[in-house]
Amino acid sequence: MKCAGGARMGWRCYERMLMPPVQSTLKLNDGHEIPCIGFGTGQLNEATNRALGEAIVAGYRLIDTASRYRNEERVGSTVRDAAVPREALSITTKVWPDRFGFDRTLRAFDESLARLRLDSVEYYLLHWPAPWLDLYVESWRALIRLRDEGRVKSIGVANFDAEQIQRLADETGIPPAINQVELHTHFQQTALRTFHAQHGIATVAWSPLGRGRYLGDPTLVALAKEHGKTPAQVVLRWHYQSGVVAIPKSAKPERIRANIDIFDFVLDADDMAAIGAFDDPDGRIGADPDSFPR
Ligand code: NDP
Repeated sequence: MKCAGGARMGWRCYERMLMPPVQSTLKLNDGHEIPCIGFGTGQLNEATNRALGEAIVAGYRLIDTASRYRNEERVGSTVRDAAVPREALSITTKVWPDRFGFDRTLRAFDESLARLRLDSVEYYLLHWPAPWLDLYVESWRALIRLRDEGRVKSIGVANFDAEQIQRLADETGIPPAINQVELHTHFQQTALRTFHAQHGIATVAWSPLGRGRYLGDPTLVALAKEHGKTPAQVVLRWHYQSGVVAIPKSAKPERIRANIDIFDFVLDADDMAAIGAFDDPDGRIGADPDSFPR
C-alpha cells in the first residue's frame, strides 16, 4: 500500500489514514490527558470484537469497559489485534462494588488485567459508590496504590455525587481525575459539572445519546438539517463543546463511524442554548446511584 505522497505505507502514514481529522484531549488534574470522545462497550456482548474493531479503525482511541460488562477478554483481544499500537489506545475499566474493600479491590484489578491480558490500563474507576456498604474510601485507597505503582495512569469514579467526591479528597488527599456519570441532553448534570470544573475533574458522559430516545426531537432534527449532520452528531458535538467526554455505544458500523465524525462543524451559542433548554433535573433514564446496585 502507498501513501498519498507515493512512499510505501509505513506506520505513521497508516496512522494518519486511521485518524479522524481532529481529535483533542482534555487535561486531567493529575497531569495526564483523556481523549474527548470514546467508545462505550457496555451491552455489546458477542459483538464486542467486531464493533470495537470498527471503532478503532474509525478513529476512537478511548475504550470504555468494566468487569461488569463481562467483555474484558474481548476488549483485550481486539486491542491486541488492532492496526494501531497499544500505546495509541486508552482503556478504562471499573471495579464493581461487590469487590470493594482495599485488598478485594486490588485483587479485582489483577483479575481485570488478566482478562484483558494487559500490564496496565489508562483509567481505573470505582463503578458505583454503593454508599450503604461504606467501603468506597477503602477501595479508593487501593486505586491510589495502583496509580502509585504505575499500573494505572489515572484513577476516578463513576456515579459519585459531589459530597462523595469531597469525602474521597478529604480522607485521602487525592481527588478523582474523572467522574463518569449519566449525562445527556435531557439530564445535563449542571451542578455536578460545576463542581467538577472547580476541582479539575473530567466529566465523562455515559448514555450520552440518551440511549437514542430523544434523537427524533424536532429541535434536534432541525439543527441536524441546518448543519448537514445527524441528530446524534449534533448531540455528540454538544457534549464536545460543553467540555464533556462522551462514550457513545453502537453495534452498527455506520453509526460507529458517524458518532465520531463531529469535528467538522460548530454549534453556535443559539444552538447550544436550544439544546441546553432540554435539561430536566428528573430526566435520569438509567439506574439511580442512591439505590443501585443493591
Ligand atoms: P448511548 O447513549 O451510547 O446509546 C446507545 C444506544 O443508542 C444504542 O441502543 C445504540 O443502538 C443507539 N445509537 C448509537 N448511535 C446511534 C446513532 N448514531 N443514531 C441512533 N441511535 C444510535 O447509551 P449507553 O447506555 O449504551 O451508554 C454508552 C456507554 O456508557 C456504555 O456502552 C458503557 O460503556 C457506558 N456506561 C457506563 C455506565 C456506568 O455506570 N459507568 C452505565 C451505563 C453505560 P445500536 O447499537 O443499535 O446502534
